[in-house]
Amino acid sequence: MGIEIQARRSTKIEWTDQTWNPVVGCHLISSGCKNCYAKSMHTRHFGNPKQPKYIKPFEEVVTWEDELETPYQWKEVKRVFVCSMSDLFNKDVPTEFIHKVFDVMNATPHYYQILTKRSERLKELAPELTWTPNIWAGVTVENGDHLNRIDHLRDVPASIRFISFEPLIGELGKVNLQGIHWAIAGGESGGSLKSLRRLNRDWVDLLREQCDEGGVAFFFKQWGRKEFNPDQSDPTIPAKGEKEKKDEKTSKGGHLIDGISYWTFPEFPTYYPDVALREELYKLEETISNSTKEFTQSWVSIGESLSIIKERMEGLGSGKLYWQAYLGVNSFQEYCKTRLQLSRETATQMRQAFEIIRGLKPELLINGAEQIPSYTKLRKLGPHQDMIIKNPGKYEEIVEHAFDETPRSKFNSEVNKRFKKRNKAKAKPAHHEQADSKYSKAIDASDWDKYIELIKTDLSSKLIPTLEDEFESLLEQLKSMLSETVSSE
Ligand code: SF4
Repeated sequence: MGIEIQARRSTKIEWTDQTWNPVVGCHLISSGCKNCYAKSMHTRHFGNPKQPKYIKPFEEVVTWEDELETPYQWKEVKRVFVCSMSDLFNKDVPTEFIHKVFDVMNATPHYYQILTKRSERLKELAPELTWTPNIWAGVTVENGDHLNRIDHLRDVPASIRFISFEPLIGELGKVNLQGIHWAIAGGESGGSLKSLRRLNRDWVDLLREQCDEGGVAFFFKQWGRKEFNPDQSDPTIPAKGEKEKKDEKTSKGGHLIDGISYWTFPEFPTYYPDVALREELYKLEETISNSTKEFTQSWVSIGESLSIIKERMEGLGSGKLYWQAYLGVNSFQEYCKTRLQLSRETATQMRQAFEIIRGLKPELLINGAEQIPSYTKLRKLGPHQDMIIKNPGKYEEIVEHAFDETPRSKFNSEVNKRFKKRNKAKAKPAHHEQADSKYSKAIDASDWDKYIELIKTDLSSKLIPTLEDEFESLLEQLKSMLSETVSSE
């Protein structure tokens, strides 16, 4: 597996991190739809003006153009279940809209899981769609009557082809798993106990054996209800009155088979929406690596490479999403530390020093290398870089001293003098001053895990229990915003 996805699960669906619903509404098509989760959710929200997506009846399929923007806004690389509230290949979804959904998937670095029962339409449209390696195609097979959906799936050129045997409501018998990478299985869970169709342990065992033999990753999601679980002491069964958690601790009816959890994912290729950019970033990283390890080039090439890397990443949009997608890290800080073995401070000083030369004396970069001072001299100007470059006339004298023979200590005191007033005025933002010292420490160390933990500890006792998930999600967003601020420094 190329990338390790670390996103926090924002849905209770165990095999994904996030749902994305550019289409809402569907029609029952086969026996697996009887207790359709999307329909019951839709019915719950139907007509609620605060939930405009559910303003039409479930049977009226609606496409939402605005939703096409959403994947660009997520801050982390995620596994995304496409159309959990519908079926992307429903006959009422216009082909042009399916193309638009694919355009978004092609352009963003998430890993998309499309699951359909309309396998004929999937097969029919597959040749005209662009199957970048981050798009996984899947079909639902609820019993042996629908094995032909797998034959349709086999013709789809997706990097991962998967089958959801959920709700598994009937015997499957021998399943042809040729060309299939992943199988999810689970019992029926939505609806009253009376209306649910019991998951049979033998069906699960037979399927798991076939996956084992065929080298297909097997994900056993849940038994559906405690009553269907052959092991009533399964520790992953939620306690009475408790809801299942968004981690491996519990699931609907529990999910262990003979005490073992089978939450297995297939291996999948890493996806970079812009391969040329990825190549460029790797070349720049190689330059930095050569310069730091072999001293074959001056610090200027490191500063230049870092500057370009930062510009490219910021050009893609802020946040850790693209740092994760292209470089496997969450921020500039982590990139420097883990991939370059450089402290963020040193890396930032080199980058800023390069940018100062590029902004004020670009001619030195072409043929004046011997006049370039050490970055340790220029670093004093780093924090004032923007104002100096924007207004070089005003700072002419100080700029000249950065490039002449003025000794570093004298130069430093001149810079201190020149910018003293401004620094004083800048001091620390008011909220830092007012924050408790425990918060200040975390802020000063940019330790956002600690910072979030402090907020949690201080506020969780005051929280209404039903809002816990919302609160957690808001804290996650805050954490990524804070990391983003640091990474863009
Ligand atoms: S295909 Fe899926 S979303 Fe559509 S009705 Fe059936 S179960 Fe519900």
